[in-house]
Amino acid sequence: MNGYVDTHAHYDDGAFESDRLELIQKLFDGGIELIVDPAVDLKSSLAVIDISKRFPGYYCAVGIHPHEASDASDTDYETIRALSAPDNAVLNKIVAIGETGLDYHYDFSPRDLQADNFRKNIRIALDNCLPLIVHDREAHADTLKILEEENAFHGKVLFHCYSGSAEFASRLTDLGCWFSFGGAITFKNAAKFDGVLKAIPKERILPETDSPYMAPVPVRGTRNDSSNLKFIYARLSVLMGIDEEELKELMKHNAAEFFGLNKYK
Ligand SMILES: [Zn+2]
Repeated sequence: MNGYVDTHAHYDDGAFESDRLELIQKLFDGGIELIVDPAVDLKSSLAVIDISKRFPGYYCAVGIHPHEASDASDTDYETIRALSAPDNAVLNKIVAIGETGLDYHYDFSPRDLQADNFRKNIRIALDNCLPLIVHDREAHADTLKILEEENAFHGKVLFHCYSGSAEFASRLTDLGCWFSFGGAITFKNAAKFDGVLKAIPKERILPETDSPYMAPVPVRGTRNDSSNLKFIYARLSVLMGIDEEELKELMKHNAAEFFGLNKYK
């Protein structure tokens, strides 16, 4: 089977309360081959581990999102660290730490707490040898500063739903970063992605939906799910100048490389 991969979807979200497990099964039956579900706090970390254990192609990331930084306790970090320790990570199907980072658009948590939370997540990722999934919204300079100060580039770093410039993408590429793209590349005002995608080597690009958010055109505004990857792949195929069959192979390859999926088989 030559399926789609969704490197970022939140099926633990309340939006899927009524049909979560049936929907996920339907997605796997319908040509989705891999889903990675990044947590947003401790409760969500436990939920994504539980879902991952139910489906062979389902994996998760554990960590604390900047929105939840104010509510995180020391015990939460200790638990996330223990859950994702090398032996436990394989058992719990944890393939990354995240999503974490900085969100200066909403500022739901004070910025100093967001920074502190980000640093703690980075340290867990490095100590447990796991890749890091970064959420950077309108906080490019501080995100880079913290990643550099914490030596995060000693490990693998993924900018999810990348929203920076082509220049910033080049700089991050030189530091070894990876990038994922979802619904935003299909929106009407998405002209800048042309330059952004050209600034990144094709081996460092990953597809995502960010479900239930960010539904792509032509289903924008609806509850998003991984079946909408076809719209994202179609746009990526144009932006990257690669035909869709080749793109499917490449995205599978890139996801396996970034998340180190071979050790989970
Ligand atoms: Zn997300």
